[in-house]
Amino acid sequence: MKTAFITGITGQDGAYLAKFLLEKGYCVVGLVPRRSTANLWRLEYLQIADQVRYEDGDLLDVTSLIRAMKRSKPDEVYHLAAQSFVGSSWEQPILTAQATGMGVLHVLEAIRETDPSIRMYQASSSELYGLIQEPQQSEQTPFYPRSPYAVSKLFGYWMTKNYRESFQMYTCNGILFNHESPLRGPEFVTRKVTQAVAQIVSGRQKELRLGNIFAKRDWGFAGDFVEAMWLMLQQEEPDDYVIATGETTTVEEMCKVAFDYVGLNYQDYLVIDPQLYRPAEVDILLGNPAKAKQKLGWYPKTKWQDLIHMMVEADLQRNGK
Ligand code: NDP
Ligand code: GDP
Repeated sequence: MKTAFITGITGQDGAYLAKFLLEKGYCVVGLVPRRSTANLWRLEYLQIADQVRYEDGDLLDVTSLIRAMKRSKPDEVYHLAAQSFVGSSWEQPILTAQATGMGVLHVLEAIRETDPSIRMYQASSSELYGLIQEPQQSEQTPFYPRSPYAVSKLFGYWMTKNYRESFQMYTCNGILFNHESPLRGPEFVTRKVTQAVAQIVSGRQKELRLGNIFAKRDWGFAGDFVEAMWLMLQQEEPDDYVIATGETTTVEEMCKVAFDYVGLNYQDYLVIDPQLYRPAEVDILLGNPAKAKQKLGWYPKTKWQDLIHMMVEADLQRNGK
């Protein structure tokens, strides 16, 4: 039986990945940082909270990572933990650099110290492309990060590559485009919209305030994307892969699809709030997942419209539809 060590197990991807790996027969160990209350709601939602072993540790404390890794002796490490919200990265740039950037180096060092043959997945991001240099972004497209979050991810990306080249470690960057689900944090725009739809239907909310509704994203389903993380660690050689759907949509169109699902007109509720504009915007992202398809046999299974419907449905259920 293989052991997988997941940082960020309490987050969206951590929960879906843990479920996926448990179904494959893995022993799953999750790193959990100290918080005032345990944050296991996503694992509970997927009914796997009691099947995971937990290790206490924080990305900012490399000694805690080394201890947790030595105790759990993993075959594979999935490094998902980060300050993951672009918007907050302007408010907390230093914490973001430490957690999202330096945290990657801490994980790489913990692996190097514990057992350099452990395979490692790094959660890189389409935010690396930022001010896009090509209309459709692939592994060859130059990066141009546009936020403290993206700059921190760039550091993590190169450290992951550098440890592969320096120490022959099996480390992979998954350059994942936006992926969403009913477990997405409510600060991200898709979940903000689907939660608002459910609240409006139940009379608890009157309007939805958004910033730049013209931004375009390549939205996929997190449940599909975690399979690609696992596939990357099952190859003969480590490599970097773009994971995306290859379709891009505006925030406005996504909003329309969410409101249409419950028979409402989004224009009756939407309020544009300039305070929600970002200091520097990523206007459009569109990924090219051809390499993942060819080398990993991976392809996205969920259309973005079905994903938004799934999220609205889950939020309606939570509101006791
Ligand atoms: P979430 O925000 O849902 O989860 C982040 C996780 O990191 C949580 O479990 C959080 O724990 C943990 N964490 C934060 N700070 C620390 C710390 N100092 N020490 C230990 N753990 C910490 O993110 P997602 O699941 O959506 O994303 C997973 C990864 O993929 C992230 O690295 C993200 O940046 C990246 N990514 C995500 C994309 C997406 O569209 N979802 C796209 C591309 C990349 P807690 O909840 O207790 O704070
Ligand atoms: P990101 O791509 O990781 O930044 O994911 P988000 O879901 O946070 O944002 C996606 C896009 O939606 C960005 O271009 C935001 O500027 C835009 N957007 C517009 N209004 C909002 C809002 O109210 N909240 C968030 N989070 N994003 C918004």
